[in-house]
Amino acid sequence: MVTMQTIHCPHCGKLALRQRYGSVTHTQCPHCDYLMTMCDRTGRVLEAYTPEITHVGCYGANLTCTLERTTALC
Ligand SMILES: [Zn+2]
Repeated sequence: MVTMQTIHCPHCGKLALRQRYGSVTHTQCPHCDYLMTMCDRTGRVLEAYTPEITHVGCYGANLTCTLERTTALC
């Protein structure tokens, strides 16, 4: 089940979108390109990207989030 939530971006403070795929939370801000994918179960950061900090993780920052990809990462 995928749930969506609007939050304030931790980077720029504008509205960002948080999507939840099971235990994986994906946060993406369209205003500043902030991106964070985290697994609640393991506490691991699967992907992180801000304009100042280069991305970490196996995938590039410009790929969109899919259920298949996040569960594969987790
Ligand atoms: Zn932002």
